[in-house]
Amino acid sequence: MSTATSSRVDVVVVGAGFAGLYALHKFREQGHSVRVFEAAPEMGGTWYFNRYPGARCDVESLDYCYSFSDELQQEWTWSEKYASQAEILEYINWVADKLDLRDGITFNTRVLATVLDEDTLTWTVTTDSGEVVTARFVVLATGPLSSPLTPDIPGLDTFAGDVYHTAHWPHGGVDFTGKRVAVIGTGSSGIQSIPLIAEQAVQLYVFQRTPNYSVPAGNRPLTAEEITQAKATYDERRRMSWRSGGGSPHLAHPKLTMEVTPEEREEAFEKRWQLGGVLFSKTFSDQMIDFEANEEARKFYERKIRAVIEDPEVAELLIPNDHPIGTKRICTDTNYFQTFNRPNVELISVRKTPIEAVEATGIVTSQARYDVDALVLATGFDAMTGTLAKIDIVGRGGQRLVDDWTDGPRTYLGLGVDGFPNLFLVSGPGSPAVLANMVLHAEAHINWIADAIGYLDQRELAAIEATTDAVDNWIAECNRRADATLFPRANSWYMGANVPGKPRVFMLFIGGFGAYLDICSEVADAGYKGFDLIAR
Ligand code: FAD
Ligand code: NAP
Repeated sequence: MSTATSSRVDVVVVGAGFAGLYALHKFREQGHSVRVFEAAPEMGGTWYFNRYPGARCDVESLDYCYSFSDELQQEWTWSEKYASQAEILEYINWVADKLDLRDGITFNTRVLATVLDEDTLTWTVTTDSGEVVTARFVVLATGPLSSPLTPDIPGLDTFAGDVYHTAHWPHGGVDFTGKRVAVIGTGSSGIQSIPLIAEQAVQLYVFQRTPNYSVPAGNRPLTAEEITQAKATYDERRRMSWRSGGGSPHLAHPKLTMEVTPEEREEAFEKRWQLGGVLFSKTFSDQMIDFEANEEARKFYERKIRAVIEDPEVAELLIPNDHPIGTKRICTDTNYFQTFNRPNVELISVRKTPIEAVEATGIVTSQARYDVDALVLATGFDAMTGTLAKIDIVGRGGQRLVDDWTDGPRTYLGLGVDGFPNLFLVSGPGSPAVLANMVLHAEAHINWIADAIGYLDQRELAAIEATTDAVDNWIAECNRRADATLFPRANSWYMGANVPGKPRVFMLFIGGFGAYLDICSEVADAGYKGFDLIAR
């Protein structure tokens, strides 16, 4: 079915990453006409843009892929425990070809606005190519991490060398051989790329503002036996993932941190450390709730990191001391801390010696000048809301979503917003989103939306719209749950803290992926409790 030129469709989907592609497939299967608009020239979203050296997933490849088709699961074979950006992008394109999705996507086309017609309860979607499409439903699969942030450093635009952002990396790659390079930012993107840039550059300066927790990924090729075993047991792997806290088949230690002896605790942390990756923060189930428990994990972590850094003064700078471990997303790395033992790598604490300016040939801090040929910005994203805010989303009574969200995003389940009937968010604020395996999360959201549309159609209803009460209650519930954890103690992008002026609210549902899915199912089973169902 090709709908690529229709100006009136059942569903407009914005974005062709993991979420938008599955949405196209699912809604087509339901018999709907669908248009997908994608600003980029190709599909893949995150994995199209973030091509920096070392970019790879931090959820295991075998889990970070679509689960809705066993045929896809069985036919695709991942080469590494954590797949590289290139392999993930190849997978996404392979799926799109298998499911015949390309003709439903209009590339190089940015959605500028979507405006509700209250009489017909339809949306008018306008794009930067001048196209105007009317749709009954709009699904915003625009991604939580799709608006890269460029820091406001004086003189940045006067730099005469090459400037790269990790989230807009050149397609042909970059050769830093013989170059003096500065990296600003030590989040997941910086930490993945720094060891590889250091191998090429003649000199690398790493400008760190806040030290981050990073756990060795333990990446390695998957063996043929592992793949055979995983494919034979995929059903169980997925069943565990759907029930889990974060969308992976992980089980925390059965006891709480302080219930076990120090030896058992050490053993549990060591076991998880050897397995590698972000799940270290879930070794015990109370680590993100109980500060004493968190401290045990943090102390173990500190011992591990100090052991691999040769210079104690450098180690001191690299060890976080301002937030509990795991309250910002744990980074995963390959030899990140060891990189600072290299003679060609220097760490500069921007907290101690702030960057004052970028000049044509270098970076000036309060204490020194660093001559560089290339500058890498690993400075993150205006997460969760940044991309949505760039679309003029106008609902009932001319109400704009951005105005509605000035004190922080307001949604019901991270899926719907009062005043915006038949408009759905995917992995929006108020859902677990980036706290979970985002591929399964996208599938769950699209399945829920498809069911809701099916429910309306079966009953010949016109629209579904979150009630204001439901939104208020959901936001209160999200805040209550966040406040019961250690997460609000960090200046994280989960809290909007990385964007000057952004409201300080914890933007996610922290209660766990499985628990969240139960709530979504209960809402649907109760006839979409908390939503108004509007007659034709
Ligand atoms: P995206 O992949 O962000 O796709 C959204 C698309 O919408 C983009 O292509 C964008 O161009 C398009 N778009 C946005 N606005 C418009 C508009 N107005 N008009 C037209 N098109 C528009 N999550 C995990 O669970 N595990 C991981 O290991 C992991 N690793 C990550 C690594 C990096 C470097 C980053 C940045 C994120 C990572 N994430 C990870 C989160 C990741 O964003 C999600 O896993 C997932 O790829 C998001 O898919 P999506 O389709 O929701 O959004
Ligand atoms: P990030 O975590 O927000 O890190 C941005 C870094 O830039 C931080 O160290 C930040 O310091 C620093 N920074 C920002 N502005 C600065 C300035 N003006 N001066 C100095 N430093 C500045 O962004 P990210 O690394 O791109 O990662 C974002 C998210 O994407 C991750 O948390 C994760 O969810 C996802 N991701 C995942 C992977 C993976 O392993 N699969 C890889 C990359 C990204 P402060 O901490 O002080 O703000």
